[in-house]
Amino acid sequence: MTEQSVLSTPTGAASPPTRLMLIGGDWVEAADGGWREITSPARRGSVLARVPRGDAADVDRAVAAAREAFPAWRDQHFTARQRLLLRIADALEDRAEELARVTAADTGNALRTQARPEAALLVDLFRYFGGVAGEVKGTTLPAGASQLQYTRQEPLGVVGAILPWNSPLMIAGFKVPAALAAGNTLVLKAAEDAPLSILLLAEVCQDVLPPGVLNVVTGTGRAAGAALVDHPGVDKVSFTGSTEVGRGIASRAGERLAHVSLELGGKNPSIVFPGEVSDELVDGLVASSRITRQGQSCTAGSRLYLHRDVHDEVLARLTDRLGALRVGDPLDEASDIGAVINETQFDSIRDYLEEGLATMRAELGGLPPTSGPLAEGFFHVPTLFSGGDNAFRLAREEIFGPVVVAIPWTDVDDVVRMANDSAYGLAAYVWSKDVDEAITTAHRLEAGWVQVNQGGGQVVGQSYGGYKQSGLGREVSLEGMIAGFTQTKQVNVRLGHGPTPTTRTGT
Ligand code: NAD
Repeated sequence: MTEQSVLSTPTGAASPPTRLMLIGGDWVEAADGGWREITSPARRGSVLARVPRGDAADVDRAVAAAREAFPAWRDQHFTARQRLLLRIADALEDRAEELARVTAADTGNALRTQARPEAALLVDLFRYFGGVAGEVKGTTLPAGASQLQYTRQEPLGVVGAILPWNSPLMIAGFKVPAALAAGNTLVLKAAEDAPLSILLLAEVCQDVLPPGVLNVVTGTGRAAGAALVDHPGVDKVSFTGSTEVGRGIASRAGERLAHVSLELGGKNPSIVFPGEVSDELVDGLVASSRITRQGQSCTAGSRLYLHRDVHDEVLARLTDRLGALRVGDPLDEASDIGAVINETQFDSIRDYLEEGLATMRAELGGLPPTSGPLAEGFFHVPTLFSGGDNAFRLAREEIFGPVVVAIPWTDVDDVVRMANDSAYGLAAYVWSKDVDEAITTAHRLEAGWVQVNQGGGQVVGQSYGGYKQSGLGREVSLEGMIAGFTQTKQVNVRLGHGPTPTTRTGT
């Protein structure tokens, strides 16, 4: 691995730095010698680095390395794994600024508002899962003096983890330390457009972990991703990405009866009840909208249901607040909002904006700038539409851009019906100072994660995952780790010359 930072490469340098994949403890090129260029979201055409274009042959090598490393990793006392995960957490903390800067460069997420908190969360996740490694416990049945009947939570084996580009370090933090703490080994497939922070994470882990315990493959979803999903040596596929791709992955993994978990898309309702329109509320709505991450978040509260009593005031205050956010170079400390990942996303968001401008009122924002510094990259501006209807495409589909659609309501049953009238069910937000009303509503919403009077991101140890088309399985928590990365083995032992248990029959 070259030591040269992707961040220090002069613009227009003859050749971009090269990053390699980690397989079996070695930094390697793709078997067929193919490369992919990783470009900057903030400057069209600017190449940050090139990475191997891994495919089925590379996945095969990585799975073989993970399989070889598995028995020794699994068979250790949990404190051995714990020690290494905690050492990684410390090493990641030492390099948090570098991780954040690389994240800002390849994802386009603003350094100050997004990339630094993401690197900090990654550290916390390694510490959390390292800390709870000893909680992967079984149970003992009170089966009498002559029987020992207990369960063991055993690792699944090799986990194939597939990452999206929107917050690669955070999502890797949901999967890697949890799978490792439970005794699995891993092959990680980085997102094709944002693999650089994941390769840096791999570099930190490689200094600490035995070879083959964590392998990282770069390449496209169609080649490297699909090969991982189909590989018979992969016991579990842990996927985060779009619902469309997730559905295909679940069906392919299902063909060979591999374990699978899916963290997918969201179109998340945010319900504001009547009451004081405080700064706290407006700040919370800004946070939950994830507009400072260009709306590229599966938990973005992008359907904003405003009670008619507060509708106009919230819109006005939110417009002011969002309008004051600064869009700019992700690596600039002054930027609140960076760039969207690539041209495809940029164009897709613009299509939604054109439709929104034709059907609703833009309180703020609209089409992206076509001149000036922002036109040099994939920059969209915060956009708030009012006059929306639940049936509109912009209120139903995941835009993955800095776009919020406000919809008025008066009756609580109506707003709950509208909020639940979605194929998705990932996150939801309820804003009310009436505790009874807030909690009752939270319980009625079909979402895996509901926040009341706050809009921040996931916190270590919480349960996280989707209802409906937003996914299967849970992550981030101890329970999620046990359910997602272990399997239960029951062991029944006859002790001494005791009687065998009275059973009716065996299956
Ligand atoms: P994507 O589904 O296009 O790609 C995700 C990953 O899957 C990438 O690594 C890609 O290379 C790989 N992939 C693509 N096709 C594949 C195939 N046929 N087989 C195997 N792997 C394949 O998603 P994206 O555009 O990178 O990310 C945005 C999406 O991710 C959004 O829908 C967002 O809501 C979702 N997301 C969900 C969560 C969550 O926790 N629920 C978190 C972040 C992002």
